Amino acid sequence: MDYQAVLEEVAACARPYVGQGRVADYIPALERVSADRFGIALADINGAVYGVGDWQVPFSVQSISKAFSLALVMAHAHGDDDIWKRVGREPSGTPFNSLVQLEWENGIPRNPFINAGALVVTDRLQSLTGDASTTMLHFLREESGNEDLAFDQAVAGSEADHGDRNAALAHFMASFGNLENPVPSVIEHYFWQCSIEMSCRDLATAGGFLARHGLRADGSRLLEAREAKRINAVMLTCGTYDAAGEFAYRVGLPAKSGVGGGIIAVVPGRCTLCVWSPGLDARGNSVAGAAALDHFTTLTGWSVF
Ligand code: GLU
Repeated sequence: MDYQAVLEEVAACARPYVGQGRVADYIPALERVSADRFGIALADINGAVYGVGDWQVPFSVQSISKAFSLALVMAHAHGDDDIWKRVGREPSGTPFNSLVQLEWENGIPRNPFINAGALVVTDRLQSLTGDASTTMLHFLREESGNEDLAFDQAVAGSEADHGDRNAALAHFMASFGNLENPVPSVIEHYFWQCSIEMSCRDLATAGGFLARHGLRADGSRLLEAREAKRINAVMLTCGTYDAAGEFAYRVGLPAKSGVGGGIIAVVPGRCTLCVWSPGLDARGNSVAGAAALDHFTTLTGWSVF
């Protein structure tokens, strides 16, 4: 398949959607990003990367980091499944930062990709490594091959300044005994991990292990094949906020989106894609990004279904 030609056609189909939706405005650092941006990258399982548009422009990964923190917990826990006693794997049906379900379910979040679940995963990674956000940054540098990846201090600071909701989630879970580390340290590492800046090229490359059934770019094993399958399954069912059913219906690929406008998507055994366009729909998913991935699976027939 001529990946470059496919991406060019996908970008042309998505173009009318670029600029639609709303750029995330809950912190000033995200609000300033132009809605007119669009980029898409595809990294095949052999490491070749293709891209169109703003595919090399860094943006705030935000919740896409949640897929990587889950992978790192699995990798560092060496097959120990304890994390699943502390977080579920069902779609939440509630907004990503919702508190309500936590009270009904004794402080156990529905899945690792809503904020509450991601805080538990970050907490676990902190216990396993002693420095959750730096572990993630080093991992992403290595997997993407981009040594320049960095935290965005302005975004991390602004997240902390507007972080009452995440602090509330963390304190609430701590009251049920579902955090191992002090709340301030958990939310700090969570904000840092969300603030990492990466391009579509970086993210598609770094997410390659999800398409390679757990193998890293150098052929070493990060995760068992069944662990990579599990992350992909949770991405499919919970990775695109409370629109995961709609996303599976339209696109049919495991995916994780973030309010920075990025979406990473996996075609197991073939490639990892990342698309970026900052205009978000009401659920928080990139409008043009979802349209692009929809066109991609229509064109290639490569949904998991
Ligand atoms: N840092 C953001 C928050 O916790 C993540 C938002 C997102 O991408 O879903 O509010």
